[in-house]
Amino acid sequence: MSLEPETLKLLVRAAAEQVIASAAELTALDQAIGDGDHGANMKRGCEAVLGKLEVIGAQPADEALKTIGKTLVMTVGGASGPLYGSFFLAAGEALSDKKLPEDLADVFGSGVNAVSARGRSHVGEKTMLDVLVPVLETLKADAGRADLIDRVRASATEAVARTVPMQATKGRASFLGARSVGHVDPGARSSCVLVQAVCSTLEARQ
Ligand code: ADP
Ligand code: MG
Repeated sequence: MSLEPETLKLLVRAAAEQVIASAAELTALDQAIGDGDHGANMKRGCEAVLGKLEVIGAQPADEALKTIGKTLVMTVGGASGPLYGSFFLAAGEALSDKKLPEDLADVFGSGVNAVSARGRSHVGEKTMLDVLVPVLETLKADAGRADLIDRVRASATEAVARTVPMQATKGRASFLGARSVGHVDPGARSSCVLVQAVCSTLEARQ
């Protein structure tokens, strides 16, 4: 594994800060089709991760991802805490015998599979998976392309928009039935914010 500790710290800080800056937007989305706590949940988790940034930065990348996962499980709460926690725990597990950036799609894919297993959910159910799965597909299809970062960013943004006409069949929004149609899914949006922050940080370093 060869993700420099300094790069990892930059990525984690950017992603956490961007989610914290988006808390009001995530709350508003969750007020429309949930209970209005997604922004506060994610903000609490990201603040806890920022509080551990020095520890995270001193760990090998696989351990760092697991620390992030455990921290999110303990602090985010709601449905999304265990799901994001599983993502980072599984990605950390996968990274222990893989290399970045070569195996990025494999590592990311392990995280996506863990979300799907934990949430018993699949693409098309109006959840965070509706962003994570398209991003994974882009990572697989466009690996090695010079414009990979742009493609990942576009894929995440387009995927969020595609959750609007979907009817939620998992999580709290599913209680609304057909009334969940016509809104962006909050977890899809927070996944997009995380992906965009990583993309922008990597791009700025190129
Ligand atoms: P809660 O729904 O418990 O209030 P949050 O508001 O923090 O938790 O998170 C809601 C988000 O979690 C949803 O917008 C959705 O993206 C995601 N989510 C909920 N249930 C599932 C599931 N079974 N699989 C994948 N994602 C889910
Ligand atoms: Mg909620």
